[in-house]
Amino acid sequence: MIEYENLGKLNAPFFEEFEKSFKETLEGGWYILGNKVQAFETEFASYCNTKYCIGVANGLDALILALRAFGFEKGSEVIVPSNTYIATILSIIHNGLTPVLVEPDISTYNIDPKKIEEKITVNTKAIMVVHLYGKMCEMDAIMTIAKKHNLKVIEDCAQAHGASFKNIKAGNWGDFGAFSFYPTKNLGAIADAGAMTTNDLELSDKIKTLRNYGSKTKYYNEVVGYNSRLDEIQAAFLSIKLKKLENINEHKRKLAKLYLNGLKSDFIKPIVQSDYSDVYHIFNIRHEKRDALKDHLLSNQIKTEIHYPVAPNKQKAMIGILDNQTTPIAEKIHQTTLSLPISFYHCEDDVVRVIEIMNKF
Ligand SMILES: *Cc1c(COP(=O)(O)O)cnc(C)c1O
Repeated sequence: MIEYENLGKLNAPFFEEFEKSFKETLEGGWYILGNKVQAFETEFASYCNTKYCIGVANGLDALILALRAFGFEKGSEVIVPSNTYIATILSIIHNGLTPVLVEPDISTYNIDPKKIEEKITVNTKAIMVVHLYGKMCEMDAIMTIAKKHNLKVIEDCAQAHGASFKNIKAGNWGDFGAFSFYPTKNLGAIADAGAMTTNDLELSDKIKTLRNYGSKTKYYNEVVGYNSRLDEIQAAFLSIKLKKLENINEHKRKLAKLYLNGLKSDFIKPIVQSDYSDVYHIFNIRHEKRDALKDHLLSNQIKTEIHYPVAPNKQKAMIGILDNQTTPIAEKIHQTTLSLPISFYHCEDDVVRVIEIMNKF
């Protein structure tokens, strides 16, 4: 059986270092927001080429806190892509703001910059972009629009650790980058964890206060804050894995290349463009008979996933919130997309096998 993902196997190369660092942290006796969090924040900022990084509890919180930091009036609008994981949209709703969906470019699956301006109103305050599947959005065009209309830009980088566009990494373009270290992500912890990047000292300070009960000095609360802290054990594990993130991304690129060269042209494959360095958090193809293809692969002992089976505006949770916005392009993607195995632990032979079975379909 070729599994889609296996977190035990994925992390096996790190077990020895994890165990050593776990013991050290356990014995050290300081478990939340300490030296190890600080060290990871410095290392991750340096990796992303940003001035600051702030560890938080998870990716959703990173997105929520980014919007919260600006204190937009309730009911203000935030532009967001129509095909994304639900978290991006939830962060807008949890801030009392209104998500305004913009359809993706069908060739990149990312928000189509040409469709953003027609959705901007006097109430629009921010653009939340998502670098989906590990490919960055067309950030130069998006930043130009944002500047012109005086909008904040938040990058959802949960699938794009280390991805770049025009040699500038994800999390380094907008006001904030929001990262998730959910275990399956390219940089994954072994529990929930997240971080935010920014080049603005004031914003960085704001988040440091917000994540810790609105407090800079213990028991003195300056603003209405949250509890969204990164713990020492996960931070230490993330520091260990960060050293190998380039290897992880390189491995995924190598497997992606095999797919790109080996899969027959019946399948719509991810686009490869010269300005983009993609990290293939997900390697997806599209096919009209997606469900039959998924069954064909499973009957040949190959597991796949669908990212995502239902568009956010078609989710039950969004009745009365988003169901008045029509998104035919996102829906078409959701009906035809299939994600193929591309984990750090998969070997070239696994991918060659998947290609062989795919090409018989
Ligand atoms: C994983 C993910 C998130 C949420 O991250 P969590 O750490 O699970 O809260 C947000 N946006 C996208 C695009 C994601 O893939």
